Amino acid sequence: MNSQCERRMNNVGGRRPIWLAGPRSGSFRGAARVLTQLVLILIAESSVVMAADEPAAGQGAGGIPTRITLRSSHFALRTDLPRPEAEETLSRMEASLKQAVRYWRREPRGQIACYVVDDLNHWPDSALPHPLARVWVGGVGGATISEFTNVQGKIRVKATVYALARPGIAEHEVIHAYCYQTFGEGGPDWYKEGMAQLVSLHAADAARVGCPEELVRVLDKSSPNRIRDLLQEGRFTRDISHAFGALLANRSDPHRHVPMSDWTGQNAETLRLAERHYVRSWALCHMLLCNPNYAARFRALGDSFLTKGRDSFDTAFASVSEEMAFEYAFFLDHVDVGYRVDLCRWDWQKRFFTLDEQELVSVRIEAARGFQASGLKLQAGHRYGYATTGSWGTSAERPATDASGDLHGSGRMVGAVMSKYQLDEPFELGQQGEFVAATSGNLYLRCRDAWNQLHDNQGTIHVRFAPPSKRGR
Ligand SMILES: [Zn+2]
Repeated sequence: MNSQCERRMNNVGGRRPIWLAGPRSGSFRGAARVLTQLVLILIAESSVVMAADEPAAGQGAGGIPTRITLRSSHFALRTDLPRPEAEETLSRMEASLKQAVRYWRREPRGQIACYVVDDLNHWPDSALPHPLARVWVGGVGGATISEFTNVQGKIRVKATVYALARPGIAEHEVIHAYCYQTFGEGGPDWYKEGMAQLVSLHAADAARVGCPEELVRVLDKSSPNRIRDLLQEGRFTRDISHAFGALLANRSDPHRHVPMSDWTGQNAETLRLAERHYVRSWALCHMLLCNPNYAARFRALGDSFLTKGRDSFDTAFASVSEEMAFEYAFFLDHVDVGYRVDLCRWDWQKRFFTLDEQELVSVRIEAARGFQASGLKLQAGHRYGYATTGSWGTSAERPATDASGDLHGSGRMVGAVMSKYQLDEPFELGQQGEFVAATSGNLYLRCRDAWNQLHDNQGTIHVRFAPPSKRGR
């Protein structure tokens, strides 16, 4: 027997979301087994309660809203929300599930039980199957617990979602519940948490719509940006898992649920410390899913996580690890609302030549892209001539310009030299001219515009490089 649970935190104001993954293996395994048993017993009790409970919305005694159950083929939603809001929540959960099916391409298995709580005071312990439900909802924001049972040799997974009735929380938990109920797996922490957030925010369209505001707002750009650090964190929710185990074990009354009063400032701090990893996981998943250089590998890796339970990140990305590390760091440096990972992908396949190897190098540069490979390999101290034809513009409204751009420098052609995956400071080019290479390396070019506003750019510029004496020949 095994047990999984996921949690997501969102403060009540909804400004700083946090995502958490729960017990999985190692030292917590023993506690997880206990958890699962508790879940099973309490679920059996609560199913009786639910069957006998009032089915319709309305006001109970003392003006406290009664709880209602809405059912669809995918969900049994139990909530204290008024019926119109409950229906709205259910439709958001359905939309989230639809995105999961669209991405992972497998129909969901079974019905997912969900407890969506507007006010914990409306819920006696008997109405919440899990003894940690109160702290999950009140302290964390949301959790999904999966019970694994062996039914005549077949492993069945039943996922139950607990979520505070705030936009985004139930949708996130639904992704966890779908993964566990459908595949029996969620992948490593960085994958399941990053993807739960990404997919619940409509991953299928992520590349087209750009980086969402929710991610940009919580992303801490100041700390180091290495993928390795994120992967090596492994189970970055271990501390909070232990905290939940302790809350359960140290209850003053083992017959009652863990009350919110047991949730300490230290528990909240443990959650806060994990926040950075959740956001970084989301950012990494966004970058890998939206970047055509890695999207296919990332999908295959995810499929192997979910269907084979295998963690093979290094194998999947071994041949492109340096390129990927560069692009992830570049993404974190430049990301803003609307930043398009697909448009800013780097061309790693293009071959570069010095002017000794090839007398003339020519390339077409699109305005609606980030830095693009010129094919020219610069040698420090050498002088280069270039000439351009064509026009481009940095928005649909602004008039097109040549590669000199407008009076404010927008639309000007800019170059940057990359060597050993290090990018030098960009320098200005223009419609035509000469320059001396400050460093050796591969030259990349772009049309200058805000990094998060490339999608509406128009036009291309054709550039030719030659030694100054031969320019224009
Ligand atoms: Zn989560």
